[in-house]
Amino acid sequence: MNNNQQTRRRIVVLGAGESGYGAAVLAKDKGMDVFLSDCGAIAPKYSEKLTAEGIAFEEGHHSLDKILSADEIVKSPGIPLDAPVIKAAREKNIPIISEIELAGRYTDAKMVCITGSNGKTTTTMLIHHILTHAGIDASLAGNIGRSLAYQVAREPHKVYVVELSSFQLDNMYDFKANIAVMLNITPDHLDRYGYKMQNYVNAKFRILQNMTSTDTFIFWKDDPVITKQLQSIATEARMLPFSEHQEEGSDAYIDAENDLIFNTPGTCMSMPRADLALNGLHNVFNSMAAGLSACVCCVTKDAIREALSDFSGVEHRLEFVRDLDGVRWLNDSKATNVNSCYYALESMTTPTVLILGGKDKGNDYSEILPLVKEKVTAIVAMGKDNAKIMEFFGPHMAQMADTHSLADAIEACRKFARPGDTVLLSPCCASFDLFRSYEDRGTQFKDAVRALKNSDN
Ligand code: ADP
Repeated sequence: MNNNQQTRRRIVVLGAGESGYGAAVLAKDKGMDVFLSDCGAIAPKYSEKLTAEGIAFEEGHHSLDKILSADEIVKSPGIPLDAPVIKAAREKNIPIISEIELAGRYTDAKMVCITGSNGKTTTTMLIHHILTHAGIDASLAGNIGRSLAYQVAREPHKVYVVELSSFQLDNMYDFKANIAVMLNITPDHLDRYGYKMQNYVNAKFRILQNMTSTDTFIFWKDDPVITKQLQSIATEARMLPFSEHQEEGSDAYIDAENDLIFNTPGTCMSMPRADLALNGLHNVFNSMAAGLSACVCCVTKDAIREALSDFSGVEHRLEFVRDLDGVRWLNDSKATNVNSCYYALESMTTPTVLILGGKDKGNDYSEILPLVKEKVTAIVAMGKDNAKIMEFFGPHMAQMADTHSLADAIEACRKFARPGDTVLLSPCCASFDLFRSYEDRGTQFKDAVRALKNSDN
């Protein structure tokens, strides 16, 4: 073995999805000795590329001898912290980092990072839309599109707009966000955090670590979990809070005329709420967070207004599918927790037939009960096991259906919906009982709804 090989740093990447593949490529480009291990089957699109890159890998199992010889491990966000391979690495004191942490070491690009329990993807895409509309060389990363590591290695940009889940934040240490957005914190993924909300909150707040006085923290001031946590955190970051109504210190809010106001140290502007491309109060918050990020990036007022009003929305998030016999059908399949369904219902302006159900994550439906009573005329449960939904809503709803397939659920909705109503798929649950993913659920729903014939035919 020559001297060069002896000193090469050994990186083991666990998991061969988009982030693992990108991390392996970046580590290889930086001259490291890279080995990738995935205990499941690797998608051919990644195994073929790994082979072409000459990166050593294994699939279907983890060889501990090869993994525990690492100087550092890059863990894909999907692997739980208590997985046996992670425990073994911890026992050997091998540092475990995320792909974002690795990528951050090799770029000086500006990092606009978005986290929260709900609204991350929408806000990330909205910020990216505004920045690119203003001619800034910005690219999407994190949970969306190409991994940050791959882009840093092969397709560098000046600005990255990065969606960060708590799982990614878990293994971030020195990474620094230049702009961090904290949208909201409601219980989610508690199974990964020892069923302790504080652990989940702490993970989310890692986004603030390392920020300095030249960086900006944008957050939702109406969220009690965020404001409480901020009391116990010392940060130099400049604070730009947003809130529903004007409050002392708010840098964005809705005023009495229903205009959206941005009032930051550098930008003072307004736009009618009605001009926003996205509907619903939750999307007003997402638009505020995106607009404030754009203000910090010195985007002009006109460009912010234009981009907030011509954004085309994100698939599976309150997505309009079609009108049929006077009934509007909406796909909100990404509503995989109760809070996101709450905001979908909040934005409904017509009587609504609501499709709920799937894999329950310990849901407490009392959060949506008042809105259900106010707006929902029928509930269609769609899942393998609907007992909890039927029991909880049964005493409050005159019309309910207990269905176990998409086709039966849609048929029940057609029976319940009257002209002028909306049928809303906003299931509050994960999709894995009847579908492969929330995307699969939403796509099947849209295909089936588009195939329906109107009642004259
Ligand atoms: P995430 O990436 O955090 O899962 P998405 O933008 O994909 O968020 O939206 C997921 C669901 O959450 C959507 O169904 C939407 O109705 C709801 N949602 C979006 N923004 C918010 C928000 N700011 N607060 C609460 N719910 C939201």
